[in-house]
Amino acid sequence: MISPSTILAGTDWLAPALVKPLSRLGLLTVGDILTHYPKRHEDRTRFDQFPQNELPAPICIRGVVEKTSLKRFGGYKKMFDATLADPSGHALSNPIVLRWFNLHYVQHMIAIGQTIIAYGRPRLRGRILTIEHPEFEVVEDDSDASLNVDRITPIYPATEGITQRAFRKLIHSLLSHLETVPDLLPEKLRTTDQRTALQQIHFPDDHDRLEAARRQLVLTEFFGLQLQVAQRRAHTVALPGASHCGTGKLLARLLTSLPYALTKAQERVIAEIRRDLASPSPMNRLLQGDVGSGKTLVALSAMLLAVEAGFQCALMAPTQILAEQHYLNFTRLLAPLGLRLALRTGNRREELASLPLFEPETPGNPDHLSSPQILVGTHALLYDSVEFADLGLVVIDEQHKFGVLQRARLISRRPTPDVLVMTATPIPRTLTMTAYGDLDVSILDELPPGRGRILTELRPDGTLKDPVKFKDYLAAGHQAYVVCPLIDDSEKTDAKAATAELKKWSAFLSPLRCEVLHGRVPPAEKEAVMRRFRDNQIQVLIATTVIEVGIDVPNATVMIIEDAEKFGLAQLHQLRGRVGRGSKTSYCILLTRSKEEFALQKLRALADTTDGFAIAEADLELRGPGDILGTAQSGLAPLKIGNILRDPDLMLQAREAASAIVLADPDLSSPPNLPYRSLLAQSTHQTLSHVS
Ligand code: ADP
Ligand code: MG
Repeated sequence: MISPSTILAGTDWLAPALVKPLSRLGLLTVGDILTHYPKRHEDRTRFDQFPQNELPAPICIRGVVEKTSLKRFGGYKKMFDATLADPSGHALSNPIVLRWFNLHYVQHMIAIGQTIIAYGRPRLRGRILTIEHPEFEVVEDDSDASLNVDRITPIYPATEGITQRAFRKLIHSLLSHLETVPDLLPEKLRTTDQRTALQQIHFPDDHDRLEAARRQLVLTEFFGLQLQVAQRRAHTVALPGASHCGTGKLLARLLTSLPYALTKAQERVIAEIRRDLASPSPMNRLLQGDVGSGKTLVALSAMLLAVEAGFQCALMAPTQILAEQHYLNFTRLLAPLGLRLALRTGNRREELASLPLFEPETPGNPDHLSSPQILVGTHALLYDSVEFADLGLVVIDEQHKFGVLQRARLISRRPTPDVLVMTATPIPRTLTMTAYGDLDVSILDELPPGRGRILTELRPDGTLKDPVKFKDYLAAGHQAYVVCPLIDDSEKTDAKAATAELKKWSAFLSPLRCEVLHGRVPPAEKEAVMRRFRDNQIQVLIATTVIEVGIDVPNATVMIIEDAEKFGLAQLHQLRGRVGRGSKTSYCILLTRSKEEFALQKLRALADTTDGFAIAEADLELRGPGDILGTAQSGLAPLKIGNILRDPDLMLQAREAASAIVLADPDLSSPPNLPYRSLLAQSTHQTLSHVS
């Protein structure tokens, strides 16, 4: 008998020829192979009819190979056609051509007279209905037939060196020799036992049982994920922390000095943070708020509360420009309060010299970093030999630009500081429950009053509708950003580059001034360019995505994005957030030369709404959760069968169950919980313990 942990290589179960291809897929144990789930199933008890026309979606047909042909073209290229006839002899049904380009092995697998099952989308090529590069299988009349035809048949992710048939045979024999499989779901979530679920996901008896098995396995996977999240959370909550909250007098002085009042949302969120600061257990809070909702002021308020209680605070921003902007902004706001600030980015000496440093108690000593009460910086705050004195609060701005490991690194300081992470990329609830599931969440769901509208226009021919009008508009005192995908022209792609666009726009807009900003502009020059733009000495800033986050120039009211399809949806939303910061109506113009439906769909989604949450959902749908819930970002193991978009309800159930279990038994050490330990992904644990 075998168990899920049995290693297969060298046993009788595995033909030696399969060892290599399986290990290439990382499939070493029985459990690995049994959780190499089918990517889809084909109901081979009934097939689709041979189509009369093009179809929008793939179909699954069975037919007999009537003829084959191999054509060469353009030197070494080959095209192999197999013409498939409808065996039902339907009078109206035309044969269909299966076609492969440059796939030499296919022509050796297919012969006239064979019965073939093919899956793919039929399209007209000339006047002939063709499926290009179909998935296919030759039907063989042998003892394994019952696994391959006349049933709901599993189709596995393709691999070189192992056929679908071989996979089915292997999995089937493993399933039939498997001893008991531990049930890894709490009983109340279970609809069937784990063994049956595995059996049915691979070789379902019918569609209902297949769906039941899928839900069960998805739940198990989500449950494992949520156990991990709950443990992470329990771990941080249990860390030794301290109360970091002053009386609020300092904060009150800042607020009365502002020309505006807090929004209701800001008030609410500051109150939430204040409670966390006052509590001795460490704060771990995620502040979500759309671009322009005023997160910086919330962060500053939190820092003042901690400073007043005698602690040092650090704010970490993802880019140097943003760190500098925060620093200047804070310097201006806090000057009347007499606080000590310092800036720490990668290149500190040079920059500190070029910036008006506000450090009343240590004049002329810009490198003295232990005395500042508020320290603003980039990653340098983590990795440099920054000495903190009584670090009480860490704020991470634009958290989506950092990974979970950086956060873990900060939390690993002793005593544990309170941590506030902020993100302007709205995270759909389903993701908040997972990637950020160990954080408490505050939401700024209100923009400060008096903001102008942003009108978004999609230009599918890649040019402005009326360039002269644009020039007149700028001449009347407005400012604009032009964002390009590249810094320099590249031979690999024809995407627009900032340096080339600078010449083009400067020539056209003269005597108005254009300047360029990108990652390779030296730090001191970057800040000088930003300052000139802020002071309207420059009318157009031609930039790369360095301006994606945080830049705040209310007089800039036009955002032109060149080759907009090259950017991700969340990124486009961020870029657009650079305008609409003042009271005037702003414009976001998306230029694209792409004809790809997927690209246009993405841009239309952006043009349709300015609601960050709606955009985040659209993004998730277009890209799929795997991409967003990246392992590096979240530190969580990738999902094999679960899809948060498809089953948010299952994620909720899993979360409730997992939280309850971890709350009562954080180490999973009581006997009924012991089996759950196997659900915690090993690799993730190692990465996290490595930094903490
Ligand atoms: P984000 O949430 O995108 O980081 P910021 O913190 O940069 O937004 O705020 C955007 C702008 O809104 C800033 O110019 C800031 O001064 C201003 N602001 C913040 N809070 C308020 C408020 N309550 N009333 C008016 N303006 C505000
Ligand atoms: Mg911000």
